[in-house]
Amino acid sequence: MKKVLVLEDEANIRSFIVINLRRAGYDVIEAESGEDALTCLKENPDTKVALLDIMLPGIDGFEVCRRIRATNTRIGIIMLTALSQEMDKVTGLMTGADDYVTKPFSPAELTARVDALFRRAGGEERSEPGELRQEPFVLNVRNRTLEKHGERIKLTQVEYSIMRVFMENPGKALSREEILDMVWGRDYFGELKIVDVNIRRLRLKIEDNVQNPTYITTVWGYGYKWGG
Ligand code: CA
Repeated sequence: MKKVLVLEDEANIRSFIVINLRRAGYDVIEAESGEDALTCLKENPDTKVALLDIMLPGIDGFEVCRRIRATNTRIGIIMLTALSQEMDKVTGLMTGADDYVTKPFSPAELTARVDALFRRAGGEERSEPGELRQEPFVLNVRNRTLEKHGERIKLTQVEYSIMRVFMENPGKALSREEILDMVWGRDYFGELKIVDVNIRRLRLKIEDNVQNPTYITTVWGYGYKWGG
């Protein structure tokens, strides 16, 4: 079942989203408050993607995102942000969201984003045996997990995908556009900034010293490289 949760307190926006996602073949669960959304997810643990509005009565969308991520790294999370709230995008991504959509958005844009995350969140299972091993990291491709010195590091699906791109291309300078294409897909509508924000978050998890990253190094004016 292609299950998606939509959290939005404004009824007209919510029904616009719900109608369009249902039309695209999704099984949509609706929530009008953050508390409500968390309950729905407990009752529907097979939900693959969650769309979270930010401004809500009660706990806000960032807090909902944080609480979901505390127990669930696998679900795809898209924040619904307002045009005037530029900083929200970065904050949302730093709290563990995978993507954001700026209101007002078109039905096509919305479904493209959900489709992309749904594919990555394991909606389409592929059997890919094996692992990528580059000391001190082991990326298990089958379980989509990462270990550093034998210790599990919790990654979101996007962070996992970025790690995989890096570990499959050791020592190669990758432009931000290339990373965007490989991780988010060629049909992605978003901005390059999303690459930087996700890499900043990934560095916090994997680097020995975030101030002086040695695993994911910056290639100035171009992009990033795995290894020095
Ligand atoms: Ca709202």
